[in-house]
Amino acid sequence: MSGFTYQSGVLHADAVPLTAIADAVGTPTYVYSGGLIRETYRGFANAFAGRDALVCYAVKANSNLAVLGLLGREGAGADCVSIGEVKRAVAAGIAPNKIVFAGVAKSATEIAAALEIGILQFNVESVPELERISAIAAARGQLAEIAIRVNPDVDAGTHAKITTGKKGNKFGIDLDQAAGVYAHAATLPGIRAAAVAMHIGSQITTVEPFEAALTRLVALAQELIAAGHPVSRIDCGGGVGIPYRGEAPIDLPAYAAMVKRVTAGFAGTLMFEPGRYLVGNAGALVSRVEYVKQGSDRRFYILDAGMNDLIRPAMYEAWHDIIPVRQTADAPAPVDVVGPICESSCIFAKDRPMPPLVDGDLIAILSAGAYSAAMASSYNTRALPAEVLVEGDRYAVIKARRSLEDLFADESPTPAFAPLGS
Ligand SMILES: *Cc1c(COP(=O)(O)O)cnc(C)c1O
Repeated sequence: MSGFTYQSGVLHADAVPLTAIADAVGTPTYVYSGGLIRETYRGFANAFAGRDALVCYAVKANSNLAVLGLLGREGAGADCVSIGEVKRAVAAGIAPNKIVFAGVAKSATEIAAALEIGILQFNVESVPELERISAIAAARGQLAEIAIRVNPDVDAGTHAKITTGKKGNKFGIDLDQAAGVYAHAATLPGIRAAAVAMHIGSQITTVEPFEAALTRLVALAQELIAAGHPVSRIDCGGGVGIPYRGEAPIDLPAYAAMVKRVTAGFAGTLMFEPGRYLVGNAGALVSRVEYVKQGSDRRFYILDAGMNDLIRPAMYEAWHDIIPVRQTADAPAPVDVVGPICESSCIFAKDRPMPPLVDGDLIAILSAGAYSAAMASSYNTRALPAEVLVEGDRYAVIKARRSLEDLFADESPTPAFAPLGS
């Protein structure tokens, strides 16, 4: 059985009890189900069987090398938003010709490094970026394959902080400017406009916004092909949502059927950039209750995990299910589940019905496989959370907990000042 299930009253990741991991590795610790990541990837990739398709996993969702390696061995490419992510993908064994480099602010250094590595494609977000890539590629005697990331002006119907495909967002090039930018690209040295791309937002749970946007993107691709541009790939972006609160997840077969229908007249390669969908439900943050505190009007479960470990509730008002690692039949009552950080936003849940727990009990914050460990910080001089990957009845520590001294080993109370130019 893959994913997080109770077995004999104890929450397991695949076949490993979380109690065993917490005892061996300590808390807070992220635990990932290798079985569920693999199953989810195969489900997504197989949904496009019969079409030439490349699934480029969006590395920023969870960039641990062990996760990248697992997905890479399944055949995934990588969608990267910094040269650091490109280097992670390469270090994890993902072939450069399956790597896409997106992001609004690629520096000259990053562009040159990506050309050196020989990535598949740059997803270009502005005219000055296009011209910069052209100049650098031409100077190196290389041809950079690019897609223009088009902003199709579609409301993804998701949280304001994760919508990216509406006019006025900083991302992409407006649809009405796109044909002109491709015409300009065709005049530039060192550039081959091999693709069109979009990414309209994240945690999208219905097919409609994807269909509206993709319909516009495919029409653009066909217009460009008719005008003689060498467009042979359509990058459909990521954004496919997952259940956090028992919601109906996106209907993947319906999504895939829509993509196939809308792109039926296009013979080239389809690309996808799912991040959250592949890993989100396959991770949990395991934490210990440090204290149970009874206030005058509410009860608090104070955890050893904080907003530095998992920022999604504070940043996106995100809901995560929180369940005890040891199953209990005791009746739940509303509590606030909070962390130790000195910020009033360091709260995981308010008035959440939870069973009675005592100091030292373990809990699991679910659906924490995406945008969770990857966003952790050491705010309040706390060590980054450890990470563990489970495969069947075995587990591996894939990110060890570092010592606190490591956090400030490169700082000094008496820094060595030097004059400029020395
Ligand atoms: C973040 C991002 C993705 C992945 O989004 P998910 O919602 O995690 O699928 C894909 N493409 C680009 C360009 C991104 O910035």
